[in-house]
Parts: sequence; structure tokens; C-alpha cells
Amino acid sequence: MSTSKNIKPFTEIKQLGEFGLIERITQKAKSTRKETILGIGDDAAVINSPQKVTVVTTDMLAEGIHFDLTYVPLKHLGYKAVAVNLSDIYSMNAEPAHITVSLAISSKFSVEHIEELYSGLLKACETYNVDLIGGDTVASPSGLVISITAIGYANENEIVKRCGAIVNDLICVTGNLGAAFLGLKLLTREKEVLKDNPSQKPKFADYEYLLERQLKPEPRRDIILKLKQADILPSSMIDISDGLSSELIHICKQSNKGCRIYEEHIPIHQQSKKLSKEFLLEPVIPALNGGEDYELLFTVKQFDYEKINNIPDISVIGHITSNPEKLEIVFSDGTVTPVLAQGWNSFRV
Ligand code: ADP
Ligand code: MG
Repeated sequence: MSTSKNIKPFTEIKQLGEFGLIERITQKAKSTRKETILGIGDDAAVINSPQKVTVVTTDMLAEGIHFDLTYVPLKHLGYKAVAVNLSDIYSMNAEPAHITVSLAISSKFSVEHIEELYSGLLKACETYNVDLIGGDTVASPSGLVISITAIGYANENEIVKRCGAIVNDLICVTGNLGAAFLGLKLLTREKEVLKDNPSQKPKFADYEYLLERQLKPEPRRDIILKLKQADILPSSMIDISDGLSSELIHICKQSNKGCRIYEEHIPIHQQSKKLSKEFLLEPVIPALNGGEDYELLFTVKQFDYEKINNIPDISVIGHITSNPEKLEIVFSDGTVTPVLAQGWNSFRV
């Protein structure tokens, strides 16, 4: 981790102790939501949303597995750690309201580092109107581990699961796919170059969008709101964290259906196409198998086609079929192949 640029003296965490650190980092966390009855500072938080169901999700990020601090600034890491959890709440068609944050911190981190992490965490909370209501802080023998639990609310009849897709439903994705994976490839490539030649400047020109998609993903709250405004309730939904193929397999398996998607309809950004070529990859490969896009994959009834078409940033990429053994992709040259899960899997890296 690069600390040389920072001229401020660093405060060792042991100087403040556990309680001092918690006090320092949670000072700026102010609860604003009506559902938060009691936030940080007691043995447990108290929350309540009458008439609604509660949606809960947890994600854990471990240094060296999910992030590399040589190229991820701590502020971005904090933002992203919250964003990916909120994405899971939105993909249930619920509204996130609270998070708790648990940290295991090694002695290489100073109080200022953790404050930097929290500035990102709290920025995401502010952007998405979520209260930080608690957490836990422990020491780790090496590295940083961040576990976040997000809590949201929805009307029970509005919850959208993975299992509701039916035959002929349209398969939709938001935004574009593969960009976050390519952003990571770019960062890793430049890290290798820097290792051999520390004075060389990293070459990121023309690929800023890909870096942003890797370092600062945004959950698609905007789409959830637009679907609601258009009075569309998807039949199934999932967020794309492990690649389109892998998520499509989840939807089909849990709905006991098949699918047919078309390469030509898969949305891919110009910069993704350009960098894929540099890496000698077909652009559809990162779109199908790259992780961390945090876009939404969902299915809607055919008669919602017009309404869906009127919402910007949603692409219809295919439809649901009846045979659960047949998950197919039609390539632009007419060849048809099975959809295979080759996405991000932290036990395989
Ligand atoms: P306890 O010993 O009862 O678990 P702690 O001393 O761990 O209490 O925590 C005190 C308060 O600070 C609690 O409200 C807890 O939720 C909150 N807290 C602890 N660590 C964090 C953290 N990393 N982020 C946010 N809140 C935290
Ligand atoms: Mg505790």
C-alpha cells in the first residue's frame, strides 16, 4: 500500500484502542431514516418498518482475494463494499435502509487509513440514503477483512426472486457488461509494468470508464425506480456480480426453465470492445464471464415489451424457454452454444 505521499503523521490504532477507534470512525455516521429507532452506541441497534417485509444480505471482502490495495484506494474500497451489498437488496426489488460494518484490521493500517475507508463507506450511505447502524471491530493477524450486512424493506407482494421466470418471458439486462472485469485486467497489467519499471506512468488513457466501473460500481437504484414508475414487476431478478452466464444459469435453474440469448443484443461499451481487442479477447467473453458489473438481469412478461423499450439503459437480450436442459446463446455468425458458468469464483482463483 502506498503511504509515502501522505505527509500527515499516522496514528497507530493501538494508540486509540478499540473503543477510541470505533468512536473516531463512527462520529460522522448520523442516522436519518425513520426506520432507525436506535443506531450506533448501544449493544444492538433497533429498527422498524411497519407493514413491510425485511430483506437482509451479507457480503464479505478479504484483502488479497477480493481487493488489492496496491491499486484500490481505501475510499473507493469503502464505497464499493457498500455498493455491492445494496445491489443485492435492489435486486430483490427492495429499498435498502441500514447497514452494519464488521472489520478485521491488521497492524499495518493506521487510524487515518480506516478513516479513509469510512469516508467511502459513508459517502455510499449518503448517496443511497442508508443509515450505518452498527458493526464490530477486531484485530486480524494480516490483511483487512470487511463484512457488511445490508437491511432493506419492501412490500411483500413486490419482492422479486430468482425463481419466477416463465416461458416466453423477455430476458433483460441493464447498462453494459464486461467493463468492470476489463477495468481489473487493465489495473493488473499496469501493476505488472510498474513492478518492472517503477518510473513508468500507468497507461489509462481512453479507458477511464473501465476503471470507474471496476473501482466505483453503482447499484442500479435508478432502474428499480423506473420499473416501479412504469408499473413493471419483473418475474425474476438477480444482480450480475459473477458474469451474465453464471447469473442466467441461476435464474433458469431456480425457475426450472431454459433460455435463448443473442450475442448481438448483449450491450458492450465501446471501451470494452477496444480493450478486449488489445487483450486478444472476443468482447462477448468478458460480457458473459467477467464479474463485478453489478448490473441487473431480470425477466418480464412479453406484453411489457413496449414499456421496457421506453426505459433507457435496458436491453432485451433473449427469452425464456421451456427445456431446463437447454440454456443457449446464439452467436452473431449463427452458431448456437450452451451457456456455461465460467464466472468469477473466489475458490478457483
Ligand atoms: P459490543 O462489545 O457490545 O459488541 P462494541 O464495542 O463492539 O460493542 O461496539 C460499540 C458500538 O459501536 C455498537 O453500537 C456497535 O454496533 C458499533 N460498532 C463497532 N464497530 C463498528 C464498526 N466497525 N462500524 C460501525 N459501528 C461499529
Ligand atoms: Mg462488538
